[in-house]
Amino acid sequence: MSYNDSMQKQYESLGICREVYEFGKKIEEQLKERFEEIDQMAEFNQSKVLRAMQKMKVSAECFNISSGYGYNDLGRDTLEGVYAECFHGEDALVRPQITCGTHALALALMSNLRPGDELLSPVGKPYDTLEEVIGIRPSKGSLAEYGITYSQVDLLPDGSFDFEGIKNAINEKTKLVTIQRSKGYATRPTLSVDRIGELIAFIKNIKPDVLCMVDNCYGEFVEDKEPLEVGADMIVGSLIKNPGGGLAPIGGYIVGKKECVENAAYRLTSPGLGKEVGASLGVIQSFYQGLFLAPTVVSGALKGAIFAANIYEALGFDVIPNSTESRHDIIQAVSFHKPEALIAFCQGIQAAAPVDSYVTPEPWAMPGYDSDVIMAAGAFVQGSSIELSADGPLKPPYAVYFQGGLTWYHAKTGILMSLQKLYEQNLVNKDLMC
Ligand SMILES: *Cc1c(COP(=O)(O)O)cnc(C)c1O
Repeated sequence: MSYNDSMQKQYESLGICREVYEFGKKIEEQLKERFEEIDQMAEFNQSKVLRAMQKMKVSAECFNISSGYGYNDLGRDTLEGVYAECFHGEDALVRPQITCGTHALALALMSNLRPGDELLSPVGKPYDTLEEVIGIRPSKGSLAEYGITYSQVDLLPDGSFDFEGIKNAINEKTKLVTIQRSKGYATRPTLSVDRIGELIAFIKNIKPDVLCMVDNCYGEFVEDKEPLEVGADMIVGSLIKNPGGGLAPIGGYIVGKKECVENAAYRLTSPGLGKEVGASLGVIQSFYQGLFLAPTVVSGALKGAIFAANIYEALGFDVIPNSTESRHDIIQAVSFHKPEALIAFCQGIQAAAPVDSYVTPEPWAMPGYDSDVIMAAGAFVQGSSIELSADGPLKPPYAVYFQGGLTWYHAKTGILMSLQKLYEQNLVNKDLMC
């Protein structure tokens, strides 16, 4: 039996038929050059992480477990140094006490804004869960309740910045500008670090003392530089996405200007205590190991996203980003325009998981979202979206947002399995697969 036959049999044993496997193989063969570029990016970012760990003198003592107040927690403090070094910040807050990305963003906003200040989003509506943080949708404890106002300038229809609109929106109250790097649940393009830099330069030219915060979720290690290198004051993200490398079981980070980080630390713990307290309870070793693996894990996820774009574009679906454009985050959106296809896709991702592969995801109401959402995740860490996962709100255009994969091979299997489910339910044009 040839190698190809035994590989195909192997996929068949997972439930992926010959037609789907062969189609995937054909698509993959066209992607060799792009995959090589991604490998080079991973190599570059690996050396960046390694250098930061060496420079901060990470030692075996850093993996000791602290409890109680967590005073003088060497592992925690050194890790914050590693993050600051790696992402080019003056200081960092990297904590298991930051429960998720939304919490990290809320913390950065609430600690750096004061009553009477205004928050501006110059890149359109922020990520769904931030609507309640800001008070776009009224919520207990929102920024709006504390007298912090919000203004928003949408991107222009072609995805470019509305410079005129942004200029008009900046006023004497504008204190902080929030820039979301990734598209999140919108179908707008993701911003490259260079474009973020252009936007920040424009804003600082109008008002130099305004703070520019970048929601960096899903963007870490996709490019060879990060937003602090192009003028951002703060970057914020989740450790159960890219920088946790799939190993961090919880956590969030804020990296940037010393004062921004200090404000956040005083809010996370208490005025006067700041970064001095917060025991790491034994999870800190996984933060180091996850960060160390993150460039490679991100590269696998990126290959998966590109593979999915090429598969589904060839089958006639709208994909964002498209099959050839450059990548600035690990998310792939596919618009199915049909709820059944969105559901079948997610069920395929679930069926390909190492954990909970036998359960069938169904659309459900989720806290923080304004429509039913279907989520597929068979993850080692609950809700981790650096692991292979897919979700989509059950509303037009019935777009799925697909991301992650701890290894490229698993991402590939997941995508083939998603196609298998569409194939079985006659939701794809099979003629396009030959
Ligand atoms: C995931 C994400 C968030 C929120 O993070 P959670 O960990 O889900 O709370 C915020 N912004 C963007 C762009 C995201 O991708």
